[in-house]
Amino acid sequence: MRGQVALPGDPGFETASRAWSTAVTQQVRAVVELADADDAAALVRYARREGLTLSVQPSGHGASDDLEGVILVRTSKLDAVRLDPVARTARVGAGVQWGRVLAEAGPHGLTGLAGSSAVVNVTGFCLGGGLSWFGRKHGWAADSVTAFDIVDADGQPGRITAASDPDLFWALRGGGGDFALVTAVEIDLHPAPAVFGGQMIWPGTAAPAVMTAFRDVTADAPDELTVWLQQFQPPGSPDALTSVLIAYLGEEARGRALLSRFDSIPGRLQDTRRMRAIADLGEIATEPTDPSPEIFASELLTGIDDHAAEALLQPITPLLAMEIRHLGGAFTRPSDSAAGQLTAPYCLVEVGLVTTPESRAAIETRRQQYRDALRPVLADRSPFTFLTPGDTAARAFTPAALTRLRAIKRNRDPHTVIRANYPVLA
Ligand SMILES: Cc1cc2nc3c(=O)[nH]c(=O)nc-3n(C[C@H](O)[C@H](O)[C@H](O)COP(=O)(O)OP(=O)(O)OC[C@H]3O[C@@H](n4cnc5c(N)ncnc54)[C@H](O)[C@@H]3O)c2cc1C
Repeated sequence: MRGQVALPGDPGFETASRAWSTAVTQQVRAVVELADADDAAALVRYARREGLTLSVQPSGHGASDDLEGVILVRTSKLDAVRLDPVARTARVGAGVQWGRVLAEAGPHGLTGLAGSSAVVNVTGFCLGGGLSWFGRKHGWAADSVTAFDIVDADGQPGRITAASDPDLFWALRGGGGDFALVTAVEIDLHPAPAVFGGQMIWPGTAAPAVMTAFRDVTADAPDELTVWLQQFQPPGSPDALTSVLIAYLGEEARGRALLSRFDSIPGRLQDTRRMRAIADLGEIATEPTDPSPEIFASELLTGIDDHAAEALLQPITPLLAMEIRHLGGAFTRPSDSAAGQLTAPYCLVEVGLVTTPESRAAIETRRQQYRDALRPVLADRSPFTFLTPGDTAARAFTPAALTRLRAIKRNRDPHTVIRANYPVLA
């Protein structure tokens, strides 16, 4: 290999082996920084020959606490982006974060299907399905992947498309990082000549009114509009804040009209809505970009009736934030991907800060309280990208999709040379 290899005891090993999420610990065998796709093939062949397992982790945003003894693979040197604005496509190396693609696509009036964070890796996001600001209009981010450059579990490079290998292509589109080492993805870009978005914030006392407006607005929003409701309690503050986060694929006047239900709610503290460059998409939600002890978990919801709304309005502590993401639209259409058709109209995301074992336990207790109170509207599933340590991949898939994924895994990687953060056979 020409890339860097760090072993336990080497200077810098501890830092190199850390995930973005500092709440997880990773006792890995080695950390390898790939120089290029040839390195990836050499590494897979070595692991296959020596009976070792490797796990690709560009950033560790989705780290799962479960990597003891693996070779941890970093991809930051695979950093090429090639945009074709006419064909509306981008070829994106496995080390590239969404912010880079958005910055390059925006000036052409185009966007990729990024989520709320600009520092999440494009490949990791798409392998997990990927819930984007524009998913209601265009579906999973994985639905827009047209090809994967891979190294398979035998160390053979290849380009996987729907035509070349329908099974593997289907599995890579949302089934996670269990099936191949991906060195680049090709994605379709989508028109985004105008985007209006931002955040409106009220004191926590406005939460019931904001919840009512949120339920009304999301009940018949066009697919171009995505609204999330958030309750947030800054560390050390006795008071929660309530907000809505918005991205609208369209002009300001129409966006404001669609959101007018929120205008009559008194006491608004802040309103950051404005026309936005695509490159600014990551600023709508004020999420941390540096490594953080943040841990998230989620529940897909089949609806929000009065009873569920009441449960969701209870104090969020000891969580840092609770978010309800609006799905529906294109997510409900058939999808030829492991992520599959998603009919649940909302996704509850719970965010906590893990600073001590006690704080982790308290977060888990609060999650269980949500589950108990929301039982009638729980889909008992979570999007793959929001699985949390302790979950298994089974939570993310329909039984039929899981069976197919497991068969593909057994067939393509019988020796577990490659291991995802949430392996499908676990
Ligand atoms: C602040 C924040 C905001 C987020 N917002 C959203 C959001 O809006 N929507 C959403 O859907 N998710 C969101 N997520 C979740 C995020 O998409 C997942 O954690 C995703 O897995 C991150 O991908 P990554 O590659 O950056 O993370 P990593 O933890 O580095 O990788 C995750 C997994 O992807 C696989 N993988 C990555 N690259 C490769 C590769 N080249 N080859 C093979 N396997 C690979 C591996 O199995 C790896 O364990 C958010 C997370 C954070 C921390």
